[in-house]
Amino acid sequence: MGKKYVYVWNKNRVEGNSKMKDILGGKGANLAEMASLGLPVPPGFTISAEVCKYYWDNNKKFPEDLKSTVEEAMRELENVTGKKFGDNENPLLVSVRSGAAISMPGMMDTILNLGLNDESVEGLAKLTNNERFAWDSYRRFIQMFGDVALGIPHEKFEDALNEVKNKKGVKQDLELDANDLKKVVELYKKLYKEEGKEFPQDPMKQLWIAIEAVFGSWNNPRAIKYRQINEMDKQGLLGTAVNVVAMVFGNMGEDSGTGVAFTRDPNTGEKKYYGEFLTNAQGEDVVAGIRTPKSLDELKNINPKVYNQLLEVMDKLETHFRDMQDIEFTVERGQLYLLQTRNGKRTAAAAVKIAVDMVKEGLINKQEAVMRVKPADIEKLLHPIFDPEELKNAQYIGKGLPASPGAATGKIVFSADDAEKLAKDGEKVILARPETSPEDVGGMNVAEGILTSRGGMTSHAAVVARGMGKTAVVGAEDIVIDLKNKVIKSNGVELKEGDWISIDGNEGKVYAGKIKTVRPEGLAGDISVLLEYADEVSVLGVRANADIPRDAKVAREFGAQGIGLCRTEHMFFGPERINKMRTMIVSKTEEQRRAALEQLLPFQRSDFKGLFEEMEGFSVTIRLLDPPLHEFVPESDEQIKEVAKMIGISEDELRSIVKDLEEFNPMMGHRGVRLAITYPEIAEMQTKAIILAAIDMIKEGKKVQPEIMIPLVGNVKELTILKESIKKIADELIKENNVDLEYKIGTMIEVPRACVVADQIGAEADFFSFGTNDLTQLGLGFSRDDYGKFIGDYIEKGIYEKDPFQQIDREGVGRLIKLALDGGRSTNPKLKVGICGEHGGDPDSIEFAHLVGLDYVSCSPYRVPVARLAAAQAAVNYKRGKTVNY
Ligand code: PEP
Ligand code: MG
Repeated sequence: MGKKYVYVWNKNRVEGNSKMKDILGGKGANLAEMASLGLPVPPGFTISAEVCKYYWDNNKKFPEDLKSTVEEAMRELENVTGKKFGDNENPLLVSVRSGAAISMPGMMDTILNLGLNDESVEGLAKLTNNERFAWDSYRRFIQMFGDVALGIPHEKFEDALNEVKNKKGVKQDLELDANDLKKVVELYKKLYKEEGKEFPQDPMKQLWIAIEAVFGSWNNPRAIKYRQINEMDKQGLLGTAVNVVAMVFGNMGEDSGTGVAFTRDPNTGEKKYYGEFLTNAQGEDVVAGIRTPKSLDELKNINPKVYNQLLEVMDKLETHFRDMQDIEFTVERGQLYLLQTRNGKRTAAAAVKIAVDMVKEGLINKQEAVMRVKPADIEKLLHPIFDPEELKNAQYIGKGLPASPGAATGKIVFSADDAEKLAKDGEKVILARPETSPEDVGGMNVAEGILTSRGGMTSHAAVVARGMGKTAVVGAEDIVIDLKNKVIKSNGVELKEGDWISIDGNEGKVYAGKIKTVRPEGLAGDISVLLEYADEVSVLGVRANADIPRDAKVAREFGAQGIGLCRTEHMFFGPERINKMRTMIVSKTEEQRRAALEQLLPFQRSDFKGLFEEMEGFSVTIRLLDPPLHEFVPESDEQIKEVAKMIGISEDELRSIVKDLEEFNPMMGHRGVRLAITYPEIAEMQTKAIILAAIDMIKEGKKVQPEIMIPLVGNVKELTILKESIKKIADELIKENNVDLEYKIGTMIEVPRACVVADQIGAEADFFSFGTNDLTQLGLGFSRDDYGKFIGDYIEKGIYEKDPFQQIDREGVGRLIKLALDGGRSTNPKLKVGICGEHGGDPDSIEFAHLVGLDYVSCSPYRVPVARLAAAQAAVNYKRGKTVNY
């Protein structure tokens, strides 16, 4: 016997289970699992995703024994259902559905009611005693089969249907009777002929065409795009599985229906049953957003028995899978069937609330909770809201459902293509559509937000936007979105393509015009609880890069455990300081320079004190002046005049000094430790300010842990020279003031040479902090300021997978880091080591930092929450010291 490709489930036996998602896909694996749990699942079988791989690897051929295996599985399905495929008495109908290991909603194909033909339609009519139902099912099947499997345009079927409706003078499909539907079937068949296709009467033939169409849909353009957007290509997916499932009917009358149920509210995360359903409808109707569904609560009144049974099933599934479930169900003449369950997609806020609640309920532990929330979700929660002041005067034009939270403002576009075009030019756009379909995902991905006039909370637009973390307002029924004329009309307001519009995904409100957005402050409720769990789980510490007390305060509110980098150069730009700084820089003599520095000292001292106060009890790493001096030189005539006057030289003389400071390549010029080597008095002043501020703290009875950091060191002698002078000044001040103050002296590691001689440097330093921005710049030889021109091509050609200034280039810069770490710790086992470049806030780089064994990462205050979560996830996923994956 060959490889096993088909897995059945029915009341007699179940071959798969929920752990087999790789080969059975999420849908197939969970259907099998539900069948094992004894839940009401219609019987069926799954053709493994391995067949999909085989099909695409072998020039669209199937494995040899697949045909006989599928036929056998169909016979088993006939036996357990007591029905026969293609029978004119008691026909078996099946659905043929895609389902990959990772859900790709709406991206691949599905065909329902398969098995109907001119004979079995009569059988279905007899069996159900409902001729209209049978012919409606038949015409739906012919339509879906033609559209999905044979590529006949959907609109042509709609035109044919409308022809019959118009002739009869009715508007709704439901107003057509069996005879009308027979006419529709005739027209559809004619359409097949016109298109040069044949509608197969043989059900087995139908089945094979459908199976092939589903496997084929794995590589349709929208599925490929979806996998690209969601970075699924690296995950080693085999393809889609195909599920063949006995049909149950939600459209058999008022005691039938179909719906989607969530075990918790996917928007807020609240522990309450949530969902939507339609009576007398078939599965896709809910998702397509064509009819507006009823809320699940109403099912209680319509059919209390089914409602209660559904709640029981929901509880059972959530406890079993230990996560919020998104369930598709159908009721056929009062009998409940489950068609699918999966871990439900949720908003960022819901993800956090559900994770925290489930820990409190004892359903999951803290480690699991931190894995339930994506770092990007945390970022989304810190996303903007509308500026309350601007909102007061905003022009409200209508309301829809708050489908995906956040606030977004942009220019109106009416098609996904236009969205992509404008976004490419750097425009912010809002995509407005009556409803969205899977073709629109590219445009949705680049839009700031999505607005639709139709559909419910589980419509395509809502589900996809939530998954993408895009703001969305859907089903705004009083807003007319006119695609033809490219206008939006609502409450007497008319907006054209390119006009600004603003949407509030928290409240579902829509406004004309542009409204400024602002970021929320601090962390509230559940996020802070989740991040406390994260801190318990993590090994890495998270600090912040902050230069002023206000940023340090935000950083503390976001849970930073200290400051990993204070860039002192940022402190000199204030109006009272900049000219003093300029004077210092253009000074001709040491005396002049010292005089200017003396004036800057009090500012620095109070700045540092402010930082120490905000970070009381935590380490604060202050870096000595780093950037090239020319960044501070006076430029305008007015500045020249003022500074020349201050230092008592002529304007021309000053101009010539400024000219002398110019460099061909400032990033590799007179900056970093080199400044301190040529002008030791600058480092002396800064040391004084740091130590005096720390002494002030101690005198006030406060705790302080200053760390003085020297930038751009490449040679240990640079460090020893600086260290000697820093120590001399610091120790004298400490002695003079008679206080007990510990301070540390360390270096940034951002020059490749420093990585190579890190054993020498480590012997002299208390700590290393990797300046991964410069280390990437100098390591790759890519200018930080110019690489934007070519990095796109590099990524497109796969030379670098990601922007190396955002995500650590593990195999290059990563190895330099490892080299430096090993070197430094070989001579100084107590060496404290962190990262303070931009990478300190990037989840992948944080994982790397954890793997190599750093002590902390430091990032901008707003990224601290993301970093805390990423650090915890790295700790759950990997033990420290595990071989680093380059
Ligand atoms: C770095 O180079 O990574 C760093 C933190 O320093 P800066 O960005 O200030 O050069
Ligand atoms: Mg640097």
